Amino acid sequence: MTKNDFSRLAAENFEKNGIAQYATDEILSKFYDLCAIFLEANEKMNLTAVRDEKLVVSRHFADCLIPASLFPVGTNVLDVGSGGGMPTLPLAIARPDLNITALDATAKKTAYIENAARALGLSNVSVVTGRAEELANSALRASFGVVTARAVAQTNVLAELCVPFVKRGGLFVALKGKNGAEEAAEAASAAKTLGCRLVDDKSFSLVDTDGEISERHVLVYEKIGETPKIYPRKYAQILKNPL
Ligand code: SAH
Repeated sequence: MTKNDFSRLAAENFEKNGIAQYATDEILSKFYDLCAIFLEANEKMNLTAVRDEKLVVSRHFADCLIPASLFPVGTNVLDVGSGGGMPTLPLAIARPDLNITALDATAKKTAYIENAARALGLSNVSVVTGRAEELANSALRASFGVVTARAVAQTNVLAELCVPFVKRGGLFVALKGKNGAEEAAEAASAAKTLGCRLVDDKSFSLVDTDGEISERHVLVYEKIGETPKIYPRKYAQILKNPL
């Protein structure tokens, strides 16, 4: 697809998804480049099941940008389990004011994110390699204004991996699919135990470039206390006995 065709398609899709403010020439040009980088890397690494550039526009880029306006200006963001850089790279492109750290357990993936950010000229992305439940006991603990994640774990499990990194007054923003409301209900006691509370469950319909519509939820938690030091536990324990 030419850059012009891509830009037209992406602008139209962003508009349908209520994110037309991000359809500037500069941003769309970076998304064109990211799409090529992402699909090329996907041939060697398992980053996504989506192989069609049109669907990358909606299922990855628009999906990651719909919650972008929730992020406070200038805040530092941690993306737990960023994988192929989602939502890190779309957010970094659309919101140059944010400082984003992509965390993943797989070194190949964080190396990819770092290289992609460099190729796109994004100076607001850094990466950390390691397991969230281990890194949460480092200097990164309680140090982010927003911690976000997409497609990593069920919300009750995910909260234990993410909330320890949020500073008091900051947000944990979980990007979820159609079961978001049920997951939020299931994670109510986990949230309380970890020192946060659900402040919003935004549901929206993601409009795909092929016309398909799917339901999404963005769960927004505010950190109102401190996470007890015993959390996060070892991953096997988190899974075996979720909060
Ligand atoms: N957020 C991306 C990738 C989802 S795949 C997207 O939406 O497309 C899940 C990713 O989370 C994988 O890359 C995996 O390596 C990472 N992951 C899972 N559990 C993790 C943990 N406990 N700590 C760090 N990374 C983790």
